[in-house]
Amino acid sequence: MRKVFNFNAGPAMLPEEVLLTAQGEMLDWHGCGMSIMELGHRGPEFQQVAAAAEKSLRELMAIPEHYQVLFLPGGATTQFAMVPLNLLARNNKVDYVDTGIWSKKAIAEAERYGQVNIAAKCHHGKEGIVIPSQQEWHLQPDVAYLHYTPNETIEGIEFHFIPETGDVPLVADVSSMILSQPIDVNRFGILYAGAQKNLGQAGVTIVIIRNDLIGEAMPFTPTLYQYKVLSANHSFYNTPPTYSWYLTGLVLDWIKRQGGVETIYAINQRKAKKLYAAIDESNGFYCNNIDPKCRSLTNVVFTLKDDTLQGEFLKQANEAGLVNLRGHKVVGGLRASIYNAMPEQGIDLLVTFMREFTLKY
Ligand code: PMP
Repeated sequence: MRKVFNFNAGPAMLPEEVLLTAQGEMLDWHGCGMSIMELGHRGPEFQQVAAAAEKSLRELMAIPEHYQVLFLPGGATTQFAMVPLNLLARNNKVDYVDTGIWSKKAIAEAERYGQVNIAAKCHHGKEGIVIPSQQEWHLQPDVAYLHYTPNETIEGIEFHFIPETGDVPLVADVSSMILSQPIDVNRFGILYAGAQKNLGQAGVTIVIIRNDLIGEAMPFTPTLYQYKVLSANHSFYNTPPTYSWYLTGLVLDWIKRQGGVETIYAINQRKAKKLYAAIDESNGFYCNNIDPKCRSLTNVVFTLKDDTLQGEFLKQANEAGLVNLRGHKVVGGLRASIYNAMPEQGIDLLVTFMREFTLKY
């Protein structure tokens, strides 16, 4: 079998241990003679899997009792619509921060239902693209919520602070940073994330929502988009994506075995530091255009000074077992997504490869 390090942004690399467990349990889950994906979602076996995954997530993120955890279908993109549909029924004014392509998609969806004020946007500063400090934002006092994207997966831009919003609920799309570092859930009204980066496979989306925000949705909201209905039915209003939920449980158990989020965070910091150092110390051969204050821990973007070498870089990287380093098609360039399951060894190999590549060209 060819062993590679997969730097894809999502669906992304999974821990080998998780894949082996899933493989081992594929035909016979815990002696029941069937795969977990063949079992009814309301039966005792799947209920056990579902409850265990929620318990692990609550433990790992220290989610307080007054928050619900929902396991929903539809991807993070569905939340771009569900958040405004559920939160703008009584007050349709809302603030969004625009830091990149995923923010823009969330904004476009919210604009269908409410009056969106763009409170802040990234700009080019002296040291690269920068997220303005909160003092420079144009926040409105009386909005239903403020939405932002703590980590922009495509541009590789990350907030290294949590916005202060007083009584205004803070809503965050944490798809590409959940569980890569500790996060204080108490500061948020809603956190949501697709699973296919740090939580398992595509198909399930986690929504962590404070109880007081589970209210009446706009009257035309489809039933399956209403937090109230989903929460009252503990994410079992209809058939949930059971296998994805199961796999998320395995990933969460794996994170616990690694020592939890703090331990993983220390490893992730080391990984990112090594990779940014390889870029910064290349005398301009590689370039990252993000202000160091706003660089992403999980999505490291870079370009080659001579971009005609990019095809050769990707080809040789692939031959060395370093795959899926091409940047998102909208922005081009290169991107190494280094979520929790990417071992430090993968980074070491990539850094060595990058150094050797500069010597060759
Ligand atoms: N938000 C962010 C930050 C993402 O990275 C992505 C997917 N790459 C999405 C939203 C969209 O997620 P999905 O494809 O699960 O709808």
